[in-house]
Amino acid sequence: MEQPDRTDIAIIGAGPSGAAAAAWLVRAGYSVRVLERAHFPRFSIGESLLPQCMVHLETCGLLAAAEAGNFQPKNGAAFCRADDYTTIDFRDKFSPGPGTTWQIERADFDQRLIEGARAAGAQVDFGVTVTAFSADPERPQLTVVDEAGESQALDARFVLDASGYGRVLARLEKLDKPSGLATRCAVFTHVEDCIDAGDYDREKILIGVHPHHPEVWYWLIPFSNGRASTGVVADIRVLEAAGDTDEERLWTLLGEEPRFARLLKQATPVRDVRRLQGYSADITRLHGPGYAVLGNAGEFLDPVFSSGVTIALDSAVRAAPLVARQLEGESVDWDHDFEIPLRRGVATFREFVEAWYDGRLPSIIFHTEHQPRVKQMIASVLAGYAWDTDNPFVAASRRRLNSLAERCSLDAEAT
Ligand SMILES: Cc1cc2nc3c(=O)[nH]c(=O)nc-3n(C[C@H](O)[C@H](O)[C@H](O)COP(=O)(O)OP(=O)(O)OC[C@H]3O[C@@H](n4cnc5c(N)ncnc54)[C@H](O)[C@@H]3O)c2cc1C
Repeated sequence: MEQPDRTDIAIIGAGPSGAAAAAWLVRAGYSVRVLERAHFPRFSIGESLLPQCMVHLETCGLLAAAEAGNFQPKNGAAFCRADDYTTIDFRDKFSPGPGTTWQIERADFDQRLIEGARAAGAQVDFGVTVTAFSADPERPQLTVVDEAGESQALDARFVLDASGYGRVLARLEKLDKPSGLATRCAVFTHVEDCIDAGDYDREKILIGVHPHHPEVWYWLIPFSNGRASTGVVADIRVLEAAGDTDEERLWTLLGEEPRFARLLKQATPVRDVRRLQGYSADITRLHGPGYAVLGNAGEFLDPVFSSGVTIALDSAVRAAPLVARQLEGESVDWDHDFEIPLRRGVATFREFVEAWYDGRLPSIIFHTEHQPRVKQMIASVLAGYAWDTDNPFVAASRRRLNSLAERCSLDAEAT
């Protein structure tokens, strides 16, 4: 590698959290070096954004770069379960902020973000893998190996780990912690969707519940180019029982949900079926001497409410100004100013994820008679405003979900 071996901030990974932090910091006047193992554009899962993302993209100066992608607009989520079908419109919500966002192919989206950071002045190295790390409050050091096997040390004044499922510092610093959520498996593909159904709303992600296995769910995320992402999340035993190969399992399970079967009857796959399992993960702490951990490299919950990129961007725009303050010589309380507030929003999503799998949230979502204000509060969390403590479903998520679910169940029994 020909680059200098010193930088103000080294960032491991060029996904959304790495790109957002890089863009913010380089605009603040620091030298930023992003180290990315892959070559972009590269496939990634995580294609349905939440409106809260738009605020973060604007904060780090990447909104225009993303807008140029002309992505599929998204204004909410639709849910189906047997004959039930219901929608949540993000524009009709409790919290202030944007009510729309996009559904995106990550290969394109991620490349636009990192190119935006590069255009702002960040140095981005592709095809290099971070293999070792030495923590230090003032001069943390990374070892970087290129594709020829050459390794080089890189000194930084601060390191941000944005390595996603690579979980570089969680592994190297032995910070890994089990997530507490059950181990689940996702199989998915992209299709030329050929959907001609007049009642199909391309501006919403469609989430379906399996007719006989309530914990098995599907997604359908249409893109602006006639393609869509579709997949199923299931316990591994249910998945394995559905066929001999992941391709057979995916299409068998999709065929068992009537609406998905109807919508996808003419679909043709445009990429191989992929599988991810055991993706939920946690970390003992999100910062240490000379480093902080962003996005999926820290905690990842579950894909059901599409919260991953939102949390990744939130962590980046929270961490970047703190890095700047620290490099200016201020003392930063990373627990108080980063980890605790970040984890507060993650905890809101966690309550919603747990309520999805134990049946409370489906009973709320498929209940048709909500007070409009309550529906707006739920819509706000599902739109990504999981840090807005003015929302009672954020401030007291568990208590509110419990009492609402109980009311919905009583109503359902009475009818
Ligand atoms: C089945 C499934 C569906 C999902 N659907 C959604 C969804 O609809 N919406 C949503 O918001 N989220 C979704 N997610 C979550 C989403 O994929 C992640 O939350 C998001 O990609 C996290 O972004 P990130 O920047 O933290 O990491 P990533 O986007 O994973 O980027 C990390 C980068 O680091 C690089 N890297 C890794 N190791 C190294 C190393 N050693 N050296 C150098 N570089 C390295 C990788 O190559 C990668 O490019 C889904 C997740 C799953 C499992």
